Amino acid sequence: MKEDFNYQTEQFADIRILRYQVPEFDDLELDQKILIYYLSQAALCGRDILWDQNNRWNLRIRKVLETIYLTYAGDRKNSRFNDFMVYLKRVWFSNGIHHHYSTEKLVPDFDLSYFKHLIDLSDWSDYPENLLFPEIIAAIREILFNPEAESKRVCLDQDKDLLVSSASNYYQDVTQKEAEGFYQAKQIEDNNTPPSWGLNSRLVKEDGILSEKVAKEGGLYTQAIEKIVFWLEKAVPYAENETQQQVIEKLISYYRTGDLKTFDEYSILWAKDTESHIDFVNGFIEVYGDPLGIKASWESLVNFKDEEASIRTSIISKHAQWFEDHSPVSPAFKKKEVKGVSAKVINAAMLGGDCHPATPIGINLPNADWIRKVHGSKSVTLENITYAYYMSSLSSGQLEEFSASGEEIKRAHDYGYLSSNMHTDLHECLGHGSGQLLPGVSPDALKNYGSTLEETRADLFALYFIADPKMQELGLIPCEEAAWAEFDAYIRNALLVQLARIEPGRNLEESHMRNRQLIAAWVYESGKEDNVIERLTHNDKTYFKINDNHKLRELFGKLLAVIQRIKSEGDYAAGRELVEKYAVKIDPKLHNEVLGRFKKLNLAPYAGFINPEYHPVYLKQELVNVEITYPDDFTKQMLEYSKHYGFLPLINE
Ligand code: ZN
Repeated sequence: MKEDFNYQTEQFADIRILRYQVPEFDDLELDQKILIYYLSQAALCGRDILWDQNNRWNLRIRKVLETIYLTYAGDRKNSRFNDFMVYLKRVWFSNGIHHHYSTEKLVPDFDLSYFKHLIDLSDWSDYPENLLFPEIIAAIREILFNPEAESKRVCLDQDKDLLVSSASNYYQDVTQKEAEGFYQAKQIEDNNTPPSWGLNSRLVKEDGILSEKVAKEGGLYTQAIEKIVFWLEKAVPYAENETQQQVIEKLISYYRTGDLKTFDEYSILWAKDTESHIDFVNGFIEVYGDPLGIKASWESLVNFKDEEASIRTSIISKHAQWFEDHSPVSPAFKKKEVKGVSAKVINAAMLGGDCHPATPIGINLPNADWIRKVHGSKSVTLENITYAYYMSSLSSGQLEEFSASGEEIKRAHDYGYLSSNMHTDLHECLGHGSGQLLPGVSPDALKNYGSTLEETRADLFALYFIADPKMQELGLIPCEEAAWAEFDAYIRNALLVQLARIEPGRNLEESHMRNRQLIAAWVYESGKEDNVIERLTHNDKTYFKINDNHKLRELFGKLLAVIQRIKSEGDYAAGRELVEKYAVKIDPKLHNEVLGRFKKLNLAPYAGFINPEYHPVYLKQELVNVEITYPDDFTKQMLEYSKHYGFLPLINE
């Protein structure tokens, strides 16, 4: 890593824009560099798919906003144009008009009359003629300035029809009941190896009949999928081994047919490919954007293994059975035999679709339950991404603001990076894979509380074991202090820092945020008598100070046993009670205080990334090298992506 690298390039609204380095790219073999280059191109080609999935107006709105940016002839130096720019950057960052995290519609800081003025002074000669310009603008005005229109991308309010009240584009003119009925009917066909029905399609109702529009060559999103396939085909000869070659070929045939059984075959091959140095994800993967959890957003991640850091996860994997046997849960709920934990540490080389600009720091795939059970899964931690977060956080002042003591700050500096990576490794490699359901219990028994409780379980597994003497014995952490650094960070984040992500007056909704507060609030309350965690006030500022780390660890273990029982027995009522009691509501006074402290420090709670660029070097038409550069202009990258990878028409019906 270059030490003088500038990680943060800018900040606007609640967003920081960072860059990540791709260490050791220059040391790769030429064939490996070429493979990364081709896969990276494939990773960028699906961007518009995600935009259209997020909302059917997104591509049209982006076109209008970018045309204004490129052609507006009026004054660009005043604060109103700046407000417009902030809005455009937020839309770029969120891949659409809804906040990437809260999924609420973004509210522009400029008003309707200024929007009209921008339209009037921009050049629309480039605008597609068949798209009836005045009508489009009128519709967009309505969407931007009427709070009721397209108000939330993913609505999880159980009192409403989840599809009618969600603005994402996975269903058209379909009610929740109709969609649930449609997919329940499919479930019956194959019980042992059920395909992920509905994963890669849009469900529509035409003339009263439900049908799927499948994303594939010749189908929905064909213009982007053809380009993805084009680059995947170029990648095939550069595959590192036969398995990887089969992986790429199978993915191509899945994109050609849209057949979900082919997708499962691809996923199985992909899970088995643990030898390749370079790896990638490209497709319809995660279902968070669909309130019913059926349909997947398009994403891509190209990466290669960090050999040195992977030693740490391979040690964890190798001892998976030891961790399972020593987990503090009831023996009936433990796996007799833990299998298929394949874990590695990787460096991201390219992020695309739903992994960009905001990106996950750990991934565990495939998602299909039966494939995980039979063929195992691959779990990865994105080292260069977490490193960029860490480096940019050192100078922000957030740690100093929310730490309860000087020792806490010192511990964070000494061990914070190492121990938070260790937490992610334990969570991804072991946490999610641990434990078992009792016979006959449905994996969906916990329904809308399922994902919060699942994340709770994985986090508790990590928190409990990071402080186990075994960790030092295995050489994974250098001393107890390192574990305490993670305890500090977890409690600080859960009870204070993460509240900055929530708008005043709102509850916690996102499952990872809920799970963190559930854990922290539960251990705080359960340890009150022993003063395990102390709530302090200095100069009207609240802090949480851990007084007894050993007791705190015991409490993590106790709660893990409770959560595992709920999961294993499918005890919906107990799960609901825990989540509703500890994980949802925020103390409004504390919430306001945290928001104020963030504002004073000018801290933005979210971050995302500018991608590096790969440049092929040709000598007499032969590809002789691939060079990497690190651009630092977010706006420029977004405009270039729209120009060079904007393959979809503005309307995809
Ligand atoms: Zn997780």
